[in-house]
Amino acid sequence: MIDKFDRKITYARISLTEKCNLKCKYCMPQDFCNAKNNELSDEEIKNIVKALLNLGINKIRFTGGEPLMRKNVIELLNEVCSFAQIDWAITTNGTTLKHNALALKKAGIKHINISLDTLNSQDYKNLTGADLQNALDGFYKVLDVGFEKIKINAVLIKGISEKQIENLAKLTLKYNVDVRFIELMPIGQCAEYSKEHLLKASYVLEILKDLKIANQDAHAPAKYYKFNGAMGRVGLITPMSCNFCSECNRIRITADGKLKPCLHSDIEIDLCDVLHNQDLLEKRMQQAINIKPERHYLNENIYIKRNMSCIGG
Ligand code: SAM
Ligand code: SF4
Repeated sequence: MIDKFDRKITYARISLTEKCNLKCKYCMPQDFCNAKNNELSDEEIKNIVKALLNLGINKIRFTGGEPLMRKNVIELLNEVCSFAQIDWAITTNGTTLKHNALALKKAGIKHINISLDTLNSQDYKNLTGADLQNALDGFYKVLDVGFEKIKINAVLIKGISEKQIENLAKLTLKYNVDVRFIELMPIGQCAEYSKEHLLKASYVLEILKDLKIANQDAHAPAKYYKFNGAMGRVGLITPMSCNFCSECNRIRITADGKLKPCLHSDIEIDLCDVLHNQDLLEKRMQQAINIKPERHYLNENIYIKRNMSCIGG
């Protein structure tokens, strides 16, 4: 699928649930109610995946909320990943990977991103409300099981990240993982927190002077660097200081069945009334891609209303 700005759309992110076992301050409103049940059924997720595949999508990432909080998620992934040989991926906070990593690999997940903003247990607790050890156990389990690509995502948070950048980046010396630092984006009800704690990605390069430019991935939002002799790369994702909209190849499906052609636009196309008709579903998706905005306006202080935890990153 090509959009009207000549961008080839090949990548979809599907949020499997809005629910999460963590409450990261930049992502989920602290009064968010985990009891709300507006998730699509397994059947509806499968229909969405089939439609995306028919439209030429070749990479699908499952996200949330916390995707591994969805009931029977492994059974669902086992089925959908058997539909086609594409890049199946998941983004998770990692806290249950100790128990799920092997099952995810067997289901067909090839790429796994773990969100880990700090290796300091007190900061992690303050930020997420949870225990760091569970996320670390998950990370070590994933290394043990082995996936095609393992990445750590760390958002840059002023007042927390400064002391952690080096520790996190140095994981690439020891392990074959990419560690990506992401600029906080003001989104939904947590927009104020993100604005107050914005730390530009250029700060990483100021601290890590030994980094050299590394090989890059096509269409990836990250710019990659490497330490001499490292196994993995250090990536910088800069939605705030430098947009990468002209390279954008992605669309998002929210847990409640809306297609978002752009993360930073309030435009959402409801798929719910066509989820059981493959023809109409594909047509609706195509219409949505035709109205994908050219770029975002974060730098002009235009933020979306939906919370990040309800989109999936
Ligand atoms: N729960 C899973 C996790 O934490 O990886 C998946 C969903 S989470 C919304 C996906 C990614 O979005 C995480 O890496 C998280 O750090 C990132 N994220 C959440 N809020 C953000 C924000 N305001 N700015 C930048 N990244 C954000
Ligand atoms: Fe949950 Fe992920 Fe958002 Fe943290 S970033 S609250 S783990 S959805």
